[in-house]
Amino acid sequence: MRPLRFLLDLLYPPKCPFCGRVLERGEEGWCASCQEELPWTGPDDAKTVESCGICLSPLWYQDGVRAGMHRYKFGGGRGHAELFGLLMAQCLQDRWEESVDLITWVPLHPKRKRKRGYDQAELLARRVGELAGLSVESTLEKVRATAVQSEISEDEARKANVKDAYRALPGLDLAGKRIVLIDDVVTTGATLWECAAALRQAGAASVVGLTFARAR
Ligand SMILES: [Zn+2]
Repeated sequence: MRPLRFLLDLLYPPKCPFCGRVLERGEEGWCASCQEELPWTGPDDAKTVESCGICLSPLWYQDGVRAGMHRYKFGGGRGHAELFGLLMAQCLQDRWEESVDLITWVPLHPKRKRKRGYDQAELLARRVGELAGLSVESTLEKVRATAVQSEISEDEARKANVKDAYRALPGLDLAGKRIVLIDDVVTTGATLWECAAALRQAGAASVVGLTFARAR
């Protein structure tokens, strides 16, 4: 162990992003009990999203997964993208057999990105791309601020909230591209639906969603 790493670990002991427990010797990234007990989805649990085809997610959005996502998005835990992206890349490798040309993500509104300091879906996309050896490109922009989707309960209201909120970057040509569209959590799929529609308008041949977690 290098001295700097040793000092850092002493000052800020690495914790499990899901349960918050300080990691023990030999535990890397997350704790042994979370590895066993997290609510993993099965191969048949992909969500069908109109215009997007399906959306794959390694985990159900509940318990420690919800807490981990909260730490990642609101607790400044941007480093969690490393582990979360790894689990997503594994899910893609295990459950998606078709070819992929590029990876992209559902972008935050620029104002919110400035406030948070990072775009959580972008970091996940970059990590998945790095692990899967696929190129990662910015393709969409959020042109209208929206209310937080998770605070809206009605399906129709969620659709209306994100309607026309995203568009493909001007001049973008995605002709024939098979795209993996990344977001943090999928609930009704309204956001993925909007983004996938914009990608298809720019010429994309197919779009499959990939999120870290899926809400029941
Ligand atoms: Zn844990």
